[in-house]
Amino acid sequence: MGLPGLIDVHTHFMPERVLEKVWAYFDAAGPLTGRPWPIAYREEEGQRLARLREFGVRAFTAMLYPHKPGMAAWLNSWSADFAARTPDCLHTATFYPEPGVEEYVRAALAQGARVFKAHLQVGAYDPADPLLDGTWGLLAATGTPVVTHCGSGPTPGKHTGPGPIGAVLARHPGLRLIVAHLGLPEYRDFLDLAERHPYVHLDTTMAFTAFTERQAPFPPDQLPRLLDLQDRILLGTDFPNIPYPYAEALRSLAGLGLGDDWLRAVCHDNAARLFDIS
Ligand SMILES: [Zn+2]
Repeated sequence: MGLPGLIDVHTHFMPERVLEKVWAYFDAAGPLTGRPWPIAYREEEGQRLARLREFGVRAFTAMLYPHKPGMAAWLNSWSADFAARTPDCLHTATFYPEPGVEEYVRAALAQGARVFKAHLQVGAYDPADPLLDGTWGLLAATGTPVVTHCGSGPTPGKHTGPGPIGAVLARHPGLRLIVAHLGLPEYRDFLDLAERHPYVHLDTTMAFTAFTERQAPFPPDQLPRLLDLQDRILLGTDFPNIPYPYAEALRSLAGLGLGDDWLRAVCHDNAARLFDIS
């Protein structure tokens, strides 16, 4: 398609023992997933990096997230080191509603963090928690994208859905929110949110694949809206924690029939613009 490669805004790299816990969670097919979820790329870090490069991914992220207080600053120090030794990784950081959050987010930005991850389902916190107000303000003021798992898939959380994150956007309309997984299963509501807020983006992580379509099918009547929002949809995959081959994500996007311009924008150009990758 004439692209120099792919940019995948939603890939997971974490400290080894955290990743092992994540994998154990998927193995248990517990309350989060409700069905078997065999991880396709359960490999060592170096092999996983080599895979992404083989796939033609020229830039990616290291999504990581805390499930309790006192963990985010440690994750951020790991990911700063990871970014320093992985030049094609966009330096990623995270946060949690806790005292001192604004200070360690400011420190991560000063260290070069270019994207943040917030996981409202695993973190089980209200994004509109007053403890986070300064943090959202800082991320909005610096134009730093925040990939946020705010949809209610695969199972709802107390603070998932368009309401809680919508309250954050009402207070911080300049926030560059990236709605993970296209907001599944609340596709319509999150497309509405993106239409109302010009800085809101959506990532395609796991959407449209056969695996996801079985549980949370994308409504066909919403497809034209993906074209209207062409400039704000970004390729994401959840690599390596996916129960199918990486190419399945790409095939699923191509299978939507939205055209080559759309695919070029989604798979590369939009993220290149957002992250200033030339
Ligand atoms: Zn993810």
